[in-house]
Amino acid sequence: MKNIGIRDDTVRPGRSSGGRRRNAVFYFDLSEALPYTERMAKMLREVTGTVGALAKGFAVTFKTMFRPAVTENYPAEPVHFEGRYRGLHVLRRDENGLEKCVACFLCAAACPANCIYIEAAENTSDHRISAAERYAKVYNIDYNRCIFCGYCVEACPCDAITHGHGFEIASYDMNGLVYRKEQLLEKPPAAAAKP
Ligand code: SF4
Ligand code: SF4
Repeated sequence: MKNIGIRDDTVRPGRSSGGRRRNAVFYFDLSEALPYTERMAKMLREVTGTVGALAKGFAVTFKTMFRPAVTENYPAEPVHFEGRYRGLHVLRRDENGLEKCVACFLCAAACPANCIYIEAAENTSDHRISAAERYAKVYNIDYNRCIFCGYCVEACPCDAITHGHGFEIASYDMNGLVYRKEQLLEKPPAAAAKP
């Protein structure tokens, strides 16, 4: 049998207490408030819910126990990345081997860590680096500061910068974490085709 109590702290003026706060507790017997069948149904619902939740939890545990382990055997074997993994950046080339970057600075403007440094230069007829008017003469990314948020990739109107899957950048030298264009740029198609 379960009772619940309600405390009554109201001030009752005009009573024999002379308007002072009165503390009274009223008890209600729930066994009288809820019929027996309703209490049983409630209890059964609670038991069924608990057993169901436990079964669901253990099903996940047992299913996972018999799956093969997903541990990567790195560095003995290459790591398997998800396609959307954000690793070291790659500066892309077009199908003619020209650099896609047109030095518009949008990536640098979008970068919240302020870690992209670009110097622009003009293309000439005998010295063409990109298909547009300008190209990035200098393109540095400071990986001491980069948080791999991907904003630069989203901001680029030419798909010139993407995230690759490179991740081995640990260094004892901070200067070694400033990557230059030559390190970020993908190989020309001819060089890439060579074994
Ligand atoms: S991934 Fe984010 S932090 Fe890194 S260079 Fe791009 S915008 Fe900057
Ligand atoms: S990488 Fe893209 S956004 Fe950044 S300067 Fe080059 S073209 Fe502009």
